[in-house]
Amino acid sequence: MYVVYSESMLAPAPGSSPSAAKPRPVVAAWKALDPSLQCIEPLLVTRAQLALAHDRDFVDQVLDGRIANGFGSISAAVGQSLPYTSGAMLRAARLAIDDRSAVAAPVSGFHHAGWNFVGGYCTFNGLLVTAQVLKHEGRARRVGILDYDMHYGGIGSADIIQRLSLDWVTHTSAGAT
Ligand SMILES: [Zn+2]
Repeated sequence: MYVVYSESMLAPAPGSSPSAAKPRPVVAAWKALDPSLQCIEPLLVTRAQLALAHDRDFVDQVLDGRIANGFGSISAAVGQSLPYTSGAMLRAARLAIDDRSAVAAPVSGFHHAGWNFVGGYCTFNGLLVTAQVLKHEGRARRVGILDYDMHYGGIGSADIIQRLSLDWVTHTSAGAT
């Protein structure tokens, strides 16, 4: 099985959430269970790709450190990791479609992020960025998002789906609203 991961997805864990540093121990734990896991490098999503799901000014302001990211900081290390985090999701989705296999990306920090706002340690919504890129490149006609976080995190995802009228995205959250 493929796992999309590299150290470029990591950032020092700021504040009270360890999310930005989590992929490393997660992948180490997975490899302990299955040493045959194959790690693949994430892509680096462009600002234009992020802007398929977000306000372009918001994207530029976050990446240029002019407004706070989802951790409430303007940390350059976090800013540099963000295009790789969404890029890991995109690479995993492309690979899953092209290879017709299950692919994992140990990423987090997506679902609270809306079109022009951060929230709950989420800066960019890599779920909707991935859905939009797949749609624009013709790889997908419809996209399903199953959100199995313990709480309802779909405020950000739902905001983007509604604002951009993405009626081809089916979004299901296991958490209560
Ligand atoms: Zn959440």
